[in-house]
Amino acid sequence: MIPFLDLKKINLRHEEAILNGMKDVLHSGWYVLGQEVKKFETDFANFTENKYCLGVANGLDALELIIRGYDIGIGDEVIVPSNTYIASILAVSANGATPILVEPNILTYNIDPAKIEEKITSNTKAIMVVHLYGQACNMDPIRYLAQKYNLKIIEDCAQSHGAIYKGKMSGNLGDAAAFSFYPGKNLGALGDAGAITTNDEELYKKLFALRNYGSNKKYENLYKGYNSRLDELQAPILCEKLRYLNADNKYRRDIANYYLDNISNENVILPVVENGSESHVWHVFVVRVTDRERFMQFMNDKRIQTLIHYPIPPHKQEAYKEWENMSFPISEQIHSQVVSIPISPVLEMSDVVYITEAINDYR
Ligand SMILES: *Cc1c(COP(=O)(O)O)cnc(C)c1O
Repeated sequence: MIPFLDLKKINLRHEEAILNGMKDVLHSGWYVLGQEVKKFETDFANFTENKYCLGVANGLDALELIIRGYDIGIGDEVIVPSNTYIASILAVSANGATPILVEPNILTYNIDPAKIEEKITSNTKAIMVVHLYGQACNMDPIRYLAQKYNLKIIEDCAQSHGAIYKGKMSGNLGDAAAFSFYPGKNLGALGDAGAITTNDEELYKKLFALRNYGSNKKYENLYKGYNSRLDELQAPILCEKLRYLNADNKYRRDIANYYLDNISNENVILPVVENGSESHVWHVFVVRVTDRERFMQFMNDKRIQTLIHYPIPPHKQEAYKEWENMSFPISEQIHSQVVSIPISPVLEMSDVVYITEAINDYR
């Protein structure tokens, strides 16, 4: 079986460095918000070309903290894509604000900028963009709207580590950005981890306290804060893997280009890249088929593992049953047709060729 994603193989490339990093933490005697977290924050701020980075516990917390940091809450609205992983939307709800869903572009699967303006009201405080599947959103028209209506832009970069939009890094395309280092992401830890990047000094100072009980100084609390800190043991692992992120992303791009150039089957719709090849880091390679169950069975018979990102759109989830009568036909179509095929920094090119041939044989 060709696995969808071989995480063990990805991480064993770094076995020695990971073990040494963990040993350093053990011997430091300092296990929360120590030197390793600080070093990763510096490295990741540099990588994303931001002034500030804060390590937090996970990607959902990163999003939730940014919204809280901007005082967006009850009575406020945040524009979010209807076609996203549910965490983007949960972060808005967790703050008591109202998520306002906007349909995607069927070709790129990202939020359709042309459909945002009609959803802006006097209560709108921010637009959350999600660079879904690793492709940066079409930011210029979104920036224009944010400026026109004085809205914050919050980026969900959980799938877009290293994606570049018109020469600028994702994570530096809005007011603040949330990253996840969940093990399966392009930059993954050995457990949960996340980060916030921003150039906004005021936000940075507030979030610096908010992630740590609302405190800058031990036992003095400025805010009713959280406990959401990047684990010290994950930090050296992330520092090490960050050094290889660009090379890993380049390899993902080579695989994606092979698929795009060589998969040719009228029953299989390929993804579309906007704004140049650097804008996509291929967190997942997603195709669309009309008879998904049959396609997945066919691939399974060829001993190729496929997955669905994602089978149920957020507005059809039990968690949001208040939206059950809402209709987002483009999202619903996408959710019913998408299938992800293997792509990763450790997938052999011979497997990529085999997967391509298999898909071309599908009838
Ligand atoms: C993974 C993911 C998140 C959540 O990150 P966690 O670290 O798992 O909390 C948020 N948004 C998107 C788009 C994601 O893919």
